[in-house]
Amino acid sequence: MSNQCQKCGAKCCRYFCFEIDEPDDYDEFEDVRWYLLHEGVTVHIDDGDWYISIDNPCKMLADDSRCLGYDNRPLICRKYDSGGCDYTSGDYGYDEHFLTADQLDAYARKTLGAKEYDKVKAKARAKLEPKPPKKSKKRKKQLKGR
Ligand code: SF4
Ligand code: SF4
Repeated sequence: MSNQCQKCGAKCCRYFCFEIDEPDDYDEFEDVRWYLLHEGVTVHIDDGDWYISIDNPCKMLADDSRCLGYDNRPLICRKYDSGGCDYTSGDYGYDEHFLTADQLDAYARKTLGAKEYDKVKAKARAKLEPKPPKKSKKRKKQLKGR
């Protein structure tokens, strides 16, 4: 382990990140908003591509920040370059970085257009509202007879 990695505390081994589809309608933005309601989840856009990042340390990470499975570490760990890593790179210069569900929601509203967003949101929610139970025919007759 390099001196740099010893000082860093293994930032790169404490989360995982993968690409997700770019949301392009209200429903898809809602899925991403749901991700962001979970602890330790952030979403970012980098060069137009969307990524989800989940804070969750690797099981191979020891208390002293060493890799317990170094000889058998996955390729992604082998390819990771400490010259431009989480410790040395500072700000990665993402196009957007969503730390909260509200930030994503504001972005969705801006992207879809406020009017359209409000309309689709109201419609989608109304569609899922529980409907009042239908009155039975017998009960209807009873009510008519009053
Ligand atoms: S590669 Fe970078 S982020 Fe990973 S442990 Fe080393 S210094 Fe830290
Ligand atoms: S396998 Fe080792 S190098 Fe790879 S993330 Fe886990 S602790 Fe880090």
